[in-house]
Amino acid sequence: MTDAPELSLVVPAFNEEESIDVLYRKLDECVTPAVESFELILIDDGSRDETWTMICRLSASDSRVRGIRLARNFGHQIAISAGIDAVRGQAAVILDADLQDPPEVIPELVEKWREGYQVVYAQRGVREGETWFKKVSAAAWYRLLRKMTNMDVPVDTGDFRLLGPQALEALRAIPEKNRYIRGLVTWLGFPQCAVVFRRKPRHAGVTKYPLKRLLGLAWDGMASFSYVPLRVATWSGLVAVGLALAYGVLLLGLQLLASAPEWFSPVLAVVLFMGGVQLIAVGILGEYLGRIYDEVKDRPLYFIRERVGSEETSVLPPT
Ligand code: UDP
Ligand code: MG
Repeated sequence: MTDAPELSLVVPAFNEEESIDVLYRKLDECVTPAVESFELILIDDGSRDETWTMICRLSASDSRVRGIRLARNFGHQIAISAGIDAVRGQAAVILDADLQDPPEVIPELVEKWREGYQVVYAQRGVREGETWFKKVSAAAWYRLLRKMTNMDVPVDTGDFRLLGPQALEALRAIPEKNRYIRGLVTWLGFPQCAVVFRRKPRHAGVTKYPLKRLLGLAWDGMASFSYVPLRVATWSGLVAVGLALAYGVLLLGLQLLASAPEWFSPVLAVVLFMGGVQLIAVGILGEYLGRIYDEVKDRPLYFIRERVGSEETSVLPPT
């Protein structure tokens, strides 16, 4: 086995056959002059196109390229975790396969790491080629998350970031199943700083984060770092009880005056309202309960179908 490289590049890829080659060339061009040595870890997250073939081809032509093929599509956050587990370098940079996270920024991230930071975020100054809806919703979401978690989650950062050795070790030690990596990394602590960049449009293909998945990720972030949604249930319950009491008093008053109009009998509305509040409360409890269930089952995060470019043959993630 060759000596450990200075930097590992961790790239999750799900149906990214059109981007892999360009990404590799770009990375080679930008990262080679900036570090002593690097390895490129490509994680094929159950792609149904030629992504794995491309990874194998690259790995055969360049020994710095390693591939990990997951047994199925486990999702972006888990693919990143699989990559992190495989890192051999002292530091690692996580970036997307679609070139939205420009490799040109990596030397700057490395520079900051050398200055002593354990976590260097690449923060999106400008987002090019994204829908108006995504920009606005993302901006609002990051700010809401920050308010609700009592945590200094940096706004406008994705998973594009550098992790130093201590941060890598700490992240590997976290066994959580519903992983929201950007939240976890903030939670780690250690000296952290940001580098601002322009987020590019996708190189090719379409987003692998349709709205449903994006909402899932957003909710993972909220539920794993905040109890506020649970409290919302309590608050809305209190409000409902308050309203019901006020309504009772009003109804009683009108009855005593014997002037309650006939239509003034919105019992149905009250019942619906109370039922709604209870359902919301139960739903929120269920969200947390489901997460507890996931943790208790304690299944491995992922399974590896095969690897290229490394001597390791393990099919289980390290525990
Ligand atoms: N990705 C993945 N597994 C998934 C979905 C996405 O590994 O289930 C990868 C994808 O190939 C890309 C990165 O995660 O490298 C970010 O996905 P995408 O670019 O589609 O998200 P967006 O930039 O649109 O938010
Ligand atoms: Mg993208």
